[in-house]
Amino acid sequence: MTSIETAEVVVTSPDRNFVTLRLTTDDGLTGLGDATLNGRELAVVSYLRDHVAPLLIGRDPHRIEDTWQFLYRSAYWRRGPVTMAAIAAVDVALWDLKARAAGMPLYQLLGGASRTGLLAYGHASGRDLPELFDSVRDHLEQGYRAIRIQTGVPGLKAVYGVAATQRADVTVGDRYDYEPASRGVFPQEEDWDTRAYLRHLPGVFEAVRGEFGPELPLLHDGHHRMTPIQAGRLGKALEPYDLFWLEDCTPAENQQGLRLVRQHTTTPLAIGEVFNTVWDYQTLVTEQLIDYVRSAVTHTGGITHLRKILDFAAQYQIRSGMHGPTDISPVGMAAALHLGLAIHNFGIQEYMKHGARTDEVFHQTFTWKDGRLHPGDEPGLGVTLDTDEAGKYPYQRAYLPYNRLTDGTVHDW
Ligand SMILES: [Mg+2]
Repeated sequence: MTSIETAEVVVTSPDRNFVTLRLTTDDGLTGLGDATLNGRELAVVSYLRDHVAPLLIGRDPHRIEDTWQFLYRSAYWRRGPVTMAAIAAVDVALWDLKARAAGMPLYQLLGGASRTGLLAYGHASGRDLPELFDSVRDHLEQGYRAIRIQTGVPGLKAVYGVAATQRADVTVGDRYDYEPASRGVFPQEEDWDTRAYLRHLPGVFEAVRGEFGPELPLLHDGHHRMTPIQAGRLGKALEPYDLFWLEDCTPAENQQGLRLVRQHTTTPLAIGEVFNTVWDYQTLVTEQLIDYVRSAVTHTGGITHLRKILDFAAQYQIRSGMHGPTDISPVGMAAALHLGLAIHNFGIQEYMKHGARTDEVFHQTFTWKDGRLHPGDEPGLGVTLDTDEAGKYPYQRAYLPYNRLTDGTVHDW
């Protein structure tokens, strides 16, 4: 393996859109990288096809750090989700190639396993408590040992995190399970009222603890909708129910805003699924304003950059909680599992199962047992792409929803 011969971008939409970079070397090895950016997929396709792929041909695939620095610094325009998803795809494909060339599962090249498996959480939801309880029981039966709790809010028609199958309002395009993006020509509109949400949620967690007991790790996603003082109030109100974490309590671009949240609550905080570099975490980490880093390998410059963020976070007792919705492709999920198995400060892994058609496009070797994931021991990432199968499902335009308050104002989704 001395040079990269081809760099192809494969777009497929079996259950939803995925963008995959496939690198092939002079000796016929292939490496895969995930470049899926939910709702803006084709921007990354163009970035890769038109600007990055021509630079990769003839390069030494072993030079992962040098290639990362070259792509980051030579573009002049730094950071941003499109750039960092494109760099991530190249980086993960190079790690996949290096591990395949070595004949080892990727986690071995990252230092070897630090644990036997990765605790994963799933998404339970319901419009009301009986539906939510059924969903929690269903997840326990599927083997989950940590569960995110999202519910409807009285007075609101469409609320983030409630499964599409439970929602009568979802009319635009097709969605499956909890996937929030919908196929169609315009984003789905949802409604929001933070005061109604703040009044409702503590009672939901009181009921869930009453039904399922004190031990089950419970998580909740605020999805960027609160101000810092509202988030502080919610965190304090949820303290009796011992959350594993409260996620994205504020939009967090203003990192200093988390100081205010921390002054008011000891509920653990997780942030960062929309971040894409270490700079987005600088204040949050050095001032210990969060407990979990939510970044995905796919959106944060790949294994090379996320590893640096997590090593930085480890010095402050902050752990990983990598983003793992269905828009992280099986390639991106595999990268997360190898990284999570190797690092010392692993916390928890989000895990939403992909649909059956997706599993036919991407052949995977990970295992799921007793609530824990393991990437498997095949050389590389352990994922292969069936290009014939992928070719059956052309790209379909899709958007994430957006929010309006009751007076019509656009709000954070
Ligand atoms: Mg989230």
